[in-house]
Amino acid sequence: MIYRTPEYCLDFRCIAGDCRDSCCKGWEIDIDSETAEKYAAISGEFGERLRRSIKNNSFILTEDERCPFLNREGLCDIYINLGRESLCHICSEHPRYFEWFGSVKEGGTGLCCEASAKLILSRPFTLCEKKVPDEEASGDYDEELFSMLLEARKAMLVVANDEDIPIGRALIQVLDIAEETQQYIEIPGTLKRKVCYEKNTIKEIFRCFYELEPIDASWLPYISKCDEAFPSAPPYSGEYNPYIRRIVSYFIFRYAMKSVYDGRILGYTVFAAVSAVFISWLFRCGAVAEQPCGFEECALIAKNYSKETEYCEENMEKLLELFETEPFFASEALKAVIAESFGENVGEI
Ligand code: SF4
Repeated sequence: MIYRTPEYCLDFRCIAGDCRDSCCKGWEIDIDSETAEKYAAISGEFGERLRRSIKNNSFILTEDERCPFLNREGLCDIYINLGRESLCHICSEHPRYFEWFGSVKEGGTGLCCEASAKLILSRPFTLCEKKVPDEEASGDYDEELFSMLLEARKAMLVVANDEDIPIGRALIQVLDIAEETQQYIEIPGTLKRKVCYEKNTIKEIFRCFYELEPIDASWLPYISKCDEAFPSAPPYSGEYNPYIRRIVSYFIFRYAMKSVYDGRILGYTVFAAVSAVFISWLFRCGAVAEQPCGFEECALIAKNYSKETEYCEENMEKLLELFETEPFFASEALKAVIAESFGENVGEI
């Protein structure tokens, strides 16, 4: 089968002990049944330690929510003692994500990981393909819809990465493609919404993010500080354009094809566009003395945003519902917010 992935993902390496927000902290880690069986059969002192540290097929986190096998050097004791092949499914895959469509497998590395976020923001978005052994993991889907979505995604990625198209205009064109595609899919009600655009729409969008379940305790105080600072934040700087184009491409690549199973192309694309807009606001709030936020800070902001949204199933579902129902996410309203956010002319929409 064919494996399709953004080129930069081939260079992904976990930075382990140098990671400032290790995925081995703060998350519940479920152990798949195959690995659980393997762990049950490990003998000796390490086997005892393994069994003492597992309850209900999850690792028992320490008081400060660390995986009990994450050592003080930031390295994994299971990896050190038993080798990579003994990691459970989640630990050996994360932050990689995969999706299967018949004879095609797609995947990449997620924005929620510090090392991956830096790759995503620093490299142009280019896809590559290679042959891999067959895997049977795909669900049933409509081939015709699949081809249409593939074309639509291709068009969106071309637009998002065309530097001759101003960033706001590019996001609006991406939304137009998604809207047209959604019309073909014909989910009743998806496109019928009252448009509501007023100056306080930006406040309303911030409010949506307050409603999510926080993953990290510092997230809500952080966005609340940004919300307050936003009216006096410097205007959008063109220096962020490459980052915004790459972030939006990541979201489009990762989510658009999921609509072959659930028909939510517009919802996923609005997610990509709102994410780009919201992250650009956070970049602006992170600017110091009118100096645009630097690369490291931008990658950190994008990583935190990803962790709080797409890496929590409930939060992602809540956002998709809001994007599909709230009047201020209706196409025309959202386009006005996009134009305003990137310093482009609202009147020209
Ligand atoms: S978040 Fe990424 S870089 Fe950090 S420990 Fe996990 S995989 Fe490694």
